[in-house]
Amino acid sequence: MDMIKNTCKKADGSTGIDFIRSIIQNDLKDNKEMIITTRFPPEPNGYIHIGHAKSIYLNFSIANENNGIFNLRFDDTNPAKEDIKYVESIKADLKWLGIDWGNNIYYSSDYFDKLHTYAIKLIKKQKAYVCSLNADQTREFRGTLKKPGTNSPYRNRTIDENLELFTKMSKGEFDDGTHVLRAKIDMGSPNLTLRDPVIYRIKKVTHHRTGDKWCVYPMYDFTHCLSDSIENITHSLCTLEFENNKPLYQWFLNELDIHPQPKQIEFARLNLTHTVLSKRKLNELVEKKYVSGWDDPRMPTISGLRKRGYTPSAIHKFCEIIGIAKRDSTVDMALLEHCIRNDLNKTATRAMAVLKPLRVVIENYPKDILDDELDYINNPEDSCMGTRKVPFSREIFIEEDDFCEDPPKKFFRLTIGREVRLRYAFYIKCTGIEKDQTGKITKVICTYDPKTRGGSSPDKRKVKATIHWVSAKHSIKAEVRLFNNLFTKENPAKDKSGKKFTDFINSDSVEILESCRIEPGLKNADPNTRYQFERKGYFALDPDSLTSDIPVFNRIVSLRDTWAKISKRQNKKKS
Ligand code: ATP
Ligand code: MG
Repeated sequence: MDMIKNTCKKADGSTGIDFIRSIIQNDLKDNKEMIITTRFPPEPNGYIHIGHAKSIYLNFSIANENNGIFNLRFDDTNPAKEDIKYVESIKADLKWLGIDWGNNIYYSSDYFDKLHTYAIKLIKKQKAYVCSLNADQTREFRGTLKKPGTNSPYRNRTIDENLELFTKMSKGEFDDGTHVLRAKIDMGSPNLTLRDPVIYRIKKVTHHRTGDKWCVYPMYDFTHCLSDSIENITHSLCTLEFENNKPLYQWFLNELDIHPQPKQIEFARLNLTHTVLSKRKLNELVEKKYVSGWDDPRMPTISGLRKRGYTPSAIHKFCEIIGIAKRDSTVDMALLEHCIRNDLNKTATRAMAVLKPLRVVIENYPKDILDDELDYINNPEDSCMGTRKVPFSREIFIEEDDFCEDPPKKFFRLTIGREVRLRYAFYIKCTGIEKDQTGKITKVICTYDPKTRGGSSPDKRKVKATIHWVSAKHSIKAEVRLFNNLFTKENPAKDKSGKKFTDFINSDSVEILESCRIEPGLKNADPNTRYQFERKGYFALDPDSLTSDIPVFNRIVSLRDTWAKISKRQNKKKS
């Protein structure tokens, strides 16, 4: 796979090494023996999304650039929310993205024994205690940002008492929520994460890997830094929201006398306009059936993008362009679309599909020519892709809106008395129309000029429009799905008026066209081949339709690129 280079290209076009790579280079200067080791630590409680892709490519490519090690670690400490199906989906999505973790696949749950021993070590050092406040009391004792917390009345339990209680907790002798094990740090700390955080809680829930072996489970903060150290992670790259947890990350490692210590470095998470990037919110969309599933083509999940027809290389390119920064920002969806468009422009086979068909009869076309074929260029951007034959006949379909009976001033396409070019075929001229009782046009009558075969006229006669078409007799029926943003609001998750993000769901996020006509060659399309349907955008076969009678094509992206305009505007604002 094409690696992200050691330098990164920023959205504004400038290049430079990002701040994380620069920290790593310095660390390598200080310690030439260091084997750069990174990890991607998903919690298997949902499908991964494009924000995760940013983190994945960062961790993966940093390890690769430095001949280091990359680990995939499932951070599976909350069995109530996690599931093996998410482990499988994450693995499949990572593979599709081109990520190779070799044998380096780990699970925090593999470390449960070790973590339990570490907890006991903290108790013995009087750095952890069993607290028996209930949830409400714990909240009250915790204080607020403005008010320091209060010590728990259980804070001074003896080592023996704590050991005994923790053992009983672990053996399942207490009910959920009756006791927790807490680190003994500082209830007065201005950093709330240091106010005696919980490190173990009772949870009598079956774990998807350890079964019923445990009824206490370690908390994220405790597990994460220790899992990093167990795996010899040198650089623990995480998103900015973990900045406050860093002192706690280090506290555990220091108190447990663990050296060398992984270095936690935070970077800005990806936010994308017109969507949400939070597994909890995406889960809600799935659960409440706002979408057809995690892989709905409108979802920003990797599986959704895959079903939509996105390529791993476009997602990779996108991550490369957005780069790594220390400050949160929101990236315009138009940039992601720009990346897939650029990718497909070079690689997608051109094809003709008529989404809203209108019948055209070419009256002077010989009735006895049944199977004429014309040469069609597969991709004008790449001559190596060659040409193919497409069938032509006396009756064809064109797009409904490529004909107008009473055309406005700037309408240059077909109307009575006007000549247009059929792409790679002939010039046709409209001589009349037929309508049904309701006034709907049912047929357009034309003549053609046989001397314009291939789409050019020997007398250099000009036409103002070229339209696409399919042969009525040869074309096949297809369904086409056109997608729009899932949300009407640029940032649906942040609303000041108190509305929920689901209040901004776009009711027009999908348009289904059931009576499209496509070239016969597309009959055997497979989901991995992307097409540019001339003038209509980029499309791919929906994998679910492999078994249906009528093929379904998803529009990956339209042809109109809005990114250039947006980035110009953004650059203007900056300068
Ligand atoms: P979510 O908010 O979607 O539930 P999460 O952080 O809870 O995300 P994890 O499975 O814990 O999900 O994430 C694994 C890794 O991916 C973490 O290191 C996290 O920092 C990173 N990550 C998650 N969301 C983003 C994002 N939007 N941009 C960049 N990195 C992200
Ligand atoms: Mg998380």
